[in-house]
Amino acid sequence: MTVFNPWEMACQQLDMVADKLNLDKGIHAKLRHCKRALIVSVPIWMDDDTVEVFEGYRVQHNLERGPAKGGIRYHPDVTLDEVKALAMWMTWKCAVVNIPYGGAKGGVVCDPTKMSLKEIEKLTRRLTSEISIIIGPEKDIPAPDVNTNPQVMSWIMDTYSMGVGYSAPGVVTGKPIEIGGSLGRHTATGRGAMLVIHEAMKHLKMKPSDTRIAIQGFGNVGSSLARYLHELGCPVVAVTDVSGGLFNEKGLDVPALLAHVERQPQRLIAGFDGGDHLAGEPAANEALFKLDVEILAPCALENQITADNAGNIRARIIAEGANGPTTPEADVILHENGVLVLPDILTNAGGVTVSYFEWVQDLQSIFWDLESIDRELTRIMTRSFHEVMAIAEREQCDLRLAAYMLGVNRVATAVKLRGVFP
Ligand code: NAD
Repeated sequence: MTVFNPWEMACQQLDMVADKLNLDKGIHAKLRHCKRALIVSVPIWMDDDTVEVFEGYRVQHNLERGPAKGGIRYHPDVTLDEVKALAMWMTWKCAVVNIPYGGAKGGVVCDPTKMSLKEIEKLTRRLTSEISIIIGPEKDIPAPDVNTNPQVMSWIMDTYSMGVGYSAPGVVTGKPIEIGGSLGRHTATGRGAMLVIHEAMKHLKMKPSDTRIAIQGFGNVGSSLARYLHELGCPVVAVTDVSGGLFNEKGLDVPALLAHVERQPQRLIAGFDGGDHLAGEPAANEALFKLDVEILAPCALENQITADNAGNIRARIIAEGANGPTTPEADVILHENGVLVLPDILTNAGGVTVSYFEWVQDLQSIFWDLESIDRELTRIMTRSFHEVMAIAEREQCDLRLAAYMLGVNRVATAVKLRGVFP
């Protein structure tokens, strides 16, 4: 069995679009490399008075269009190659929605579900101190990702501010409102995904009430997507998370499920009594992927839809809330089967878009109301969907290749205009 390597997958995707765009060889080579990658050791005192050392990474892929932007992930399976891939995907994503950032990502190999809040705070503060040589409001701006949240962003902001000697809210996005966060940021990725899905539904003339949804992952992205699709009138019939899966053919009571998750210390769906149980993990995902639904939204991790299970998928649309959930081999199968894949670099770009709004507000110390944020997010996501769809129709290709053509071309143009130093 071949071992999945996200960096190889990201390079394979770039190679495909480089061919299609007839990209200059030198520019292609430049884009195939990350600009810089910092590996740090993060030693902390654990609650039992022993010292444990964690490995952390911050990778900046390309900075030609602006400062680096990308989340920080805490997960036992984090690897340098995963962080490099996620940084590259951030570069294309920022270019697809045309915001002035380059791509970055960070991660720490750890299992936060087995750590106390105090330990997570110490880990975050020491990590921030170690990577502070390359982050900053003009240089590289982290944000939340898997297992990190507004509280973690507060600690990053505070630690960085202690180092420079003044409050620097622009160093991270996804902060609480009280310390310079933006209205609408916490749910922006789910809201952006809903906006893209809604445009795709209109394109395919699908009625919300007849559009059944299955969602993998019920964290930041999956739960807010469920909320917005429910508000749109779509029955959300199934969800999974690390604790298992839930199914209700009439549609889950999403507000009740959200309230249930909010009450759980680990924010899990387990214990909710408003649906039948899909068999346990990892079988819950296999059952989820086979369901007779119109839309399947993977909102957990990479490498979920593969050549092994893509053929079982009955959904008409796959909406990638997660980064890299579908392998290139699975893409081919889905395309042959007529499944419309809404690619990650478009579908989940709402998060970085409102992060951009947050950063602009922090730099200007002027804060926008929610109406303005929602209006601007809707404008950018809708425009980006139609730009990608127009390329797909012109080039007779799938939406992933079309999104890559749009994003990579914008970055390649910036590289060409700036030239190679010295
Ligand atoms: P999160 O930590 O808030 O939630 C992750 C969810 O996935 C949890 O519900 C967890 O239980 C579930 N999960 C993990 N492994 C699973 C498995 N094997 N099967 C089913 N569920 C599983 O993370 P998040 O911020 O929602 O991020 C999810 C994905 O979205 C990641 O790929 C991330 O890179 C991407 N993303 C996040 C943002 C953001 O703003 N947070 C923006 C863009 C993309």
